[in-house]
Amino acid sequence: EALAPARGWLETAYTSETIRALWAPWVLHAGLGPEDAFSGQIAKVIAFALEAAGAPIVKGGAKNLLAAFEALIKERGGVISTDADVASIILEGGRAAGVRLASGETVHAKKSVICSVTPTQLYGRLLGDAAPKRDVDATREYRYGKGNFQIHYALSKPPAWRGEGLDKVALLHLTPGLDGVSKACNEALRGLLPEVPTICVGQPHALDPSRCPQGKAILWLQLPEAPRHIKGDAAGKFAAPADGQWTAKLREAYADRVEAILASHIDGFSGSVIARRAYSPADLEAMNINLVGGDPYGGSSTIDQAFLWRPFKASRNHETGIKNLYHIGASTHPGAGLGGGSGFLLAGRL
Ligand SMILES: Cc1cc2nc3c(=O)[nH]c(=O)nc-3n(C[C@H](O)[C@H](O)[C@H](O)COP(=O)(O)OP(=O)(O)OC[C@H]3O[C@@H](n4cnc5c(N)ncnc54)[C@H](O)[C@@H]3O)c2cc1C
Repeated sequence: EALAPARGWLETAYTSETIRALWAPWVLHAGLGPEDAFSGQIAKVIAFALEAAGAPIVKGGAKNLLAAFEALIKERGGVISTDADVASIILEGGRAAGVRLASGETVHAKKSVICSVTPTQLYGRLLGDAAPKRDVDATREYRYGKGNFQIHYALSKPPAWRGEGLDKVALLHLTPGLDGVSKACNEALRGLLPEVPTICVGQPHALDPSRCPQGKAILWLQLPEAPRHIKGDAAGKFAAPADGQWTAKLREAYADRVEAILASHIDGFSGSVIARRAYSPADLEAMNINLVGGDPYGGSSTIDQAFLWRPFKASRNHETGIKNLYHIGASTHPGAGLGGGSGFLLAGRL
């Protein structure tokens, strides 16, 4: 039963296209599409969680969550270094003994080295020639998921949604429905810019007025169906760059397409825009090496690469083939998300 796709669940449990449209986009937040195995189960889990706990956001912005963790770590004597690119893992006697930064500085480990990176980086960069062949081979088969595209807006006034009550919702989806999610997902997977992407609209100010000056508003748009490598445009309007890479021009043109859909739901939207900032999948990857091709989830989350099979079928308890070296993060069991599950599980074992 857990393996059923969301389409199966929605088409057998609900006759209303509106209810199907309500739940279908949520599978995108788990890196899945509505026809993927297990997406029915994940949609039910999300539906239950939303009913039980809502969708809480951090007062004052997500940076406050980081600040809270930072304080906790420092309180316990931990040291945090930022802008410190780890270039390699130091091995001594076949065991992980520390890391070497790109600057040449070394940091020695008292007990173990724990990496929250993709397998591509761990076995293709950080371990260099010492990477176990079995893991190098498995990394070659590791797949990344759809890219993610972000648009952030500063608005001079709260959006005047045409749909009643939407001004009170912190996160909503604009979608033609279950088939629309399916179509856009499939287009992105085939390297096409979706004709009508699913637009996840976050309006944090609806729950937390401290996010912007009084009387103003902000919108946080997530487009989870973006191609990592562009082969074409499902709408037939934009030419794909010869090298398939995102360009600033294409990013803004695609953001215009998204904005036109958004504006069709909000009275006077264009006139209320103070500023817009779009991030293509390539921009996201440039900001965080873990977002390969702009995949926000550190690797495709289809069931063959999820849970106990993440990152590899032979992976066990976040161990690697090297003593004292552990692999955690979105690319490992139990998968992507802000829950910190892999680190929690490993901390319990260590
Ligand atoms: C736009 C967006 C929206 C999202 N929304 C949600 C959401 O609403 N809910 C949710 O649960 N999840 C969400 N996710 C997914 C979630 O953010 C990730 O799954 C999660 O952050 C993964 O945590 P992590 O520790 O594995 O990796 P990261 O958060 O990527 O942290 C790892 C850090 O290590 C750094 N690093 C990597 N390699 C090196 C190196 N060699 N040297 C030094 N530093 C290095 C990286 O730059 C990064 O800062 C979203 C992701 C994105 C991109």
